[in-house]
Amino acid sequence: MAKKNPFEVAQEQLDKAAKLLKLEPAVHEMLRWPMREVHVTIPVKMDNGSIKVFKGFMVQYNDALGPTKGGIRFHPEETIDTVRALAAWMTWKTALMDLPYGGGKGGVICNPKEMSDGELERLSRGYIRAIAQIIGPEKDIPAPDVYTNPQIMAWMMDEYSKIRQYNSPGVITGKPLRIGGSAGRIDATARGGMYVLREAAKKIGIDLKNATCAIQGYGNAGHFAHKLITEMFGTKVVAVSDSKGGIYSENGLSYEDVYKHKQETRSVVGFGGTKEITNEELLELDVDILIPAALEEVITGDNADKIKAKIIVELANGPVTPEADEILHNKNILFLPDFLANAGGVTVSYFEWVQNITGLYWDEEEVYSRLDKKMTKSFLAVWDAMNEFNCDPRTAAYIVAVRRVVEGMKLRGWV
Ligand code: GLU
Repeated sequence: MAKKNPFEVAQEQLDKAAKLLKLEPAVHEMLRWPMREVHVTIPVKMDNGSIKVFKGFMVQYNDALGPTKGGIRFHPEETIDTVRALAAWMTWKTALMDLPYGGGKGGVICNPKEMSDGELERLSRGYIRAIAQIIGPEKDIPAPDVYTNPQIMAWMMDEYSKIRQYNSPGVITGKPLRIGGSAGRIDATARGGMYVLREAAKKIGIDLKNATCAIQGYGNAGHFAHKLITEMFGTKVVAVSDSKGGIYSENGLSYEDVYKHKQETRSVVGFGGTKEITNEELLELDVDILIPAALEEVITGDNADKIKAKIIVELANGPVTPEADEILHNKNILFLPDFLANAGGVTVSYFEWVQNITGLYWDEEEVYSRLDKKMTKSFLAVWDAMNEFNCDPRTAAYIVAVRRVVEGMKLRGWV
């Protein structure tokens, strides 16, 4: 089946919650569309002397609860509708986590894997120049997403600071530690997911120490999930994958060894003593915990029926479609929705911004304990809404988040 437009998926998810909440039509309409979006064209001098023109987007979805916040994605298949969907999900994510932010997202159509460091730096700086007017510590605070990283955040922060003519670390989060990053930001997405998984496992009685797990995606979220699920709970990770394919071993995969192999060869594939599997096969393995940590729409109406995991931790944004939600919920599979499960990233981004603004920096323990509190509280809010409305976990998370954004819009007198 062809992939659905991700923004239509985001709208469909909202519509379901809007119905249960009996939202007034104007309020619902306001939440279905981005408040603002900007399309930019970025000329970049390439290493061979030619000029390549890149296209980029910035969507500021809703700022009723504070300045918009969300990552910047560099991806060859980026589209305005993907950025719109991701910006909508950021709106629900920051609201669910009770952060003083709205939701936004940036994206540039490019393939960082085929660009030199110099080209990437010029593109990153060019993108910031193009959107400088609409970002800032009190307007919109970007961060990393798929294929962007702390070094890219450093160039972007520097470019913005040069434009403003003062140091402005609070304009962007996910920076390297030396120039205003936060302790604990690098693995925060995966760590936050682990706290939510711990709470969910308690609720449905799964012993994580004796459980098995498969992880799709080995980027920042996926590889740290492998590390942390092993360290924190002793769960056996039997399969992992990246864009080139997957590996399986029923005896479990050592994080250190697989990560080393990935760094040396740029893929997990080919790691000794494992069986090669496809990304699709990985999702259907007979494991207790399944962690999609790559891209959108991997669990759909076509394969949801074949999923065997008891808990799905959505570290990716948008990995499960609305058709799959129905099927999974009917099969009694507990899916921890993306904007809850992967909210650790933006939560520690918020801590980073607070530290930048106050100038007082925290240690790892402080970050972890604050993150744990936030994740646990949000999980319990979703759990309660699920029971109150007798609905699936995603709709429950929407109910909690949408109510908060609506309250903000009403207090501001918008609707
Ligand atoms: N890109 C991440 C996300 O989707 C992090 C956003 C942030 O830290 O602002 O949640």
